[in-house]
Amino acid sequence: MGEKVQEYKIKGHQLTCPVCQGTLFWTRKSMLNTRGLTFLGMDWANKAADNYVCDNCGYMMWFLPK
Ligand SMILES: [Zn+2]
Repeated sequence: MGEKVQEYKIKGHQLTCPVCQGTLFWTRKSMLNTRGLTFLGMDWANKAADNYVCDNCGYMMWFLPK
């Protein structure tokens, strides 16, 4: 384990869970590439997304790279 649980800001906005209003998250990276998405021409899907997972309720938010 050892994930770092902390508060985050996205572009200056406090990251808040839309479900429980929690502000503590841990993060992970997810690769988005699937054959289906690539087939559809969605090249952005071949990148890694940042996932912020609410430490309270487990809700996971996805942020796509720009
Ligand atoms: Zn939550």
